[in-house]
Amino acid sequence: MFISDIKIDTYNIPLPEPVEAYAAGIMKSFDLVICRITNDNDVEGIGYITVHENQGKAIAQIIKDSFVDLLKNKDPRYIEYLWNLMWKKVHYAGRGAPVSFAIAAVDVALWDLKGKYLKEPLWSLLGGYQKNVLCYAGNIDLNFSKDKLLEEATKSLDQGFRAIKMRLGRETLKEDLERLDAMRNHLSSDISLMADANEAWTVNQAMKAFNEIEKFNLVWLEEPIKPDDFEGYKYLRSLGKVPIAAGENLHTLAEMNLLIKHNGVDYVEPDLTTCGGITAYMKVAKLAEINNLPVVSHGVHELHVHLLAACPNASYMEFHAWRIDNYIEEKLSINNGYSPAPDKPGHGVVFDFEKLSKLKID
Ligand SMILES: [Mg+2]
Repeated sequence: MFISDIKIDTYNIPLPEPVEAYAAGIMKSFDLVICRITNDNDVEGIGYITVHENQGKAIAQIIKDSFVDLLKNKDPRYIEYLWNLMWKKVHYAGRGAPVSFAIAAVDVALWDLKGKYLKEPLWSLLGGYQKNVLCYAGNIDLNFSKDKLLEEATKSLDQGFRAIKMRLGRETLKEDLERLDAMRNHLSSDISLMADANEAWTVNQAMKAFNEIEKFNLVWLEEPIKPDDFEGYKYLRSLGKVPIAAGENLHTLAEMNLLIKHNGVDYVEPDLTTCGGITAYMKVAKLAEINNLPVVSHGVHELHVHLLAACPNASYMEFHAWRIDNYIEEKLSINNGYSPAPDKPGHGVVFDFEKLSKLKID
């Protein structure tokens, strides 16, 4: 078997309304890079990544310039070999983002192709542990009024979620606490709550925030500080006040290893699109398992549902606010807080390319 063709397209997907997180600021849209890899029998694997607006084209260009010729005529079944070939090829400008995003798009396409070729769903191909994955609504809402924040939470509950994440990082800690208090009172006691500070605080500010936030009994508080301040994470976790999640902004296996080695988190949270794809994510998940830590996910839930369904140490999957529901054949279902991994061969995501064509930017 060999790779006969590789196509890369970039789209800009509008969000239904502007949303805000502390580190990213206001977001009105996001970019979607789709990589299609065909073998000599015309089996097509589809890979994709999502990223902030105006950054998709640069990632697509890395694939076009550095990976297309490298991969053509190679056997697509040997994913570890091809992953390492890509890593080596771009190591000088790479060893992290944005090349990790580019490798991820290709890696997902290779896994999808393998699943389709073997007629196996991805979650089974990766080991298969439990079909139903616990999930939460990862709402992005820092710019919303308190009323709208609660309205959006109600919408998520109506969709079948039993756990909700809200954003922190407003101007003052007092405001954050008021919003947390309103949300906790709005939700019944059987609904779980997470919060995400998106790197809003220094270690000292986080320490003060933890003292106040402890009483809200959060499942976790995410990214209280900058993602690579491993000593900071170690210190904050040692306080034993609030469980910590992080990992979405780490882009190499080595960074993930450092976070875990520093005992920096209670929940390891890699994102396959930011750390090098399914191949890299599964290694992080295993590292977490060996260290007796649960693994969660960030972004691209249509893909992560398969990965978490293959992990014995899986905890919550995020249903991210960057939704591609309008551009795919079938969106994931949510029932009583769980989402089942699809049983179609590969990852099962089928894009509506005609609908997407209006949003194509490259
Ligand atoms: Mg986050």
